[in-house]
Amino acid sequence: MSVLVVVECDKGEVKKSSLEVATYGAQLAAQLGTSATAIAVGEATDASLAKLGEQGITKVLYDKEPRLKDFVNNAYTKLIATAAQQEDAKVIVLANSNIGAAVGSRLSIRLQAALATNVVELPKTDGGQFTVKRGAFSGKAFSDVVLNGDRKIIAVKKNSIEAQHEAGKTAEVVAFSAQLGDADFADAPKQVVMQDQAGGILLPEAERVVSGGRGMKGPENWGLIEDLAKALGAATACSKPVSDVDWRPHHEHVGQTGITVSPNLYIACGISGAIQHLAGVNSSKVIVVINKDPEAPFFKAADYGIVGDVFDVLPKLTAAVKELD
Ligand code: FAD
Repeated sequence: MSVLVVVECDKGEVKKSSLEVATYGAQLAAQLGTSATAIAVGEATDASLAKLGEQGITKVLYDKEPRLKDFVNNAYTKLIATAAQQEDAKVIVLANSNIGAAVGSRLSIRLQAALATNVVELPKTDGGQFTVKRGAFSGKAFSDVVLNGDRKIIAVKKNSIEAQHEAGKTAEVVAFSAQLGDADFADAPKQVVMQDQAGGILLPEAERVVSGGRGMKGPENWGLIEDLAKALGAATACSKPVSDVDWRPHHEHVGQTGITVSPNLYIACGISGAIQHLAGVNSSKVIVVINKDPEAPFFKAADYGIVGDVFDVLPKLTAAVKELD
């Protein structure tokens, strides 16, 4: 019996959200008196997978089938299910990401397992029950859910747990084959096209994000957002109305109907903080809000608030960040 952790990789590296998931899985395994094995998906190197030992993973299974480099729903589901059966995993832990959401529900059916998404802390496992805490209503409420049955699947919300790093510990990387055939790749995308992102930083994975709203007044002022983003090594984003009027491309729009971001730092410039916007940013670790209206709702969700005009504050903030270098 073990805990199986699904680790997402990209361009040879383990994604930050998966380092958190690996830590979660290892801590849960310790709580259950067992070990944590990982199954890697995406493009990884053996060296990057071995480093998962730092998060407490003992063994990593990796199928080098080249068609698994990009996400394919059927193939990923079969791969993970096969690993879960081989390892007799009673709990599968994955990220509450796009891949986690797509695969989690399929795995739940295939393995007849109880599924909890948006989980924000380690489960309570005393008294023979398995109770998880889930975020609901865009993080405004939480519910405790009892998972029944022999198998459980937990999708962990980003930034819910700090990834641990025990330097020098390594995991054993083991070749694995789920015997995937052409039929498993029938839903494979023909081509994966990455959107152009400012500074080459992918918004959903960005550690820092500088975001602008209607308070920026027009696309001609976006240089102020880009300057601060460049100084911080951040990605740029925007509110929905900004992309609706084509001030910015649609793939930069965050919120309920756009992209969900979970950076360490989210700086909102001239954004009111409507619930639909907050839905996409409220798992950010630190939120800084710049708004000239002290009553703007975003201040309630902010860790730091600057009441001021973006055209006055942004150049000063950028200059101050540059001075730190
Ligand atoms: P505004 O609401 O116009 O706010 C502009 C802010 O800038 C104000 O707070 C103002 O005080 C401030 N400001 C103005 N000038 C300055 C200045 N010079 N300096 C500093 N501050 C200034 N929105 C999203 O963002 N993402 C979504 O995914 C999304 N999905 C939606 C889905 C549905 C079904 C619906 C109904 C709405 C959705 N919306 C979404 C829209 C959302 O409700 C808000 O209308 C939107 O987020 C507001 O954008 P904003 O804050 O940029 O603009």
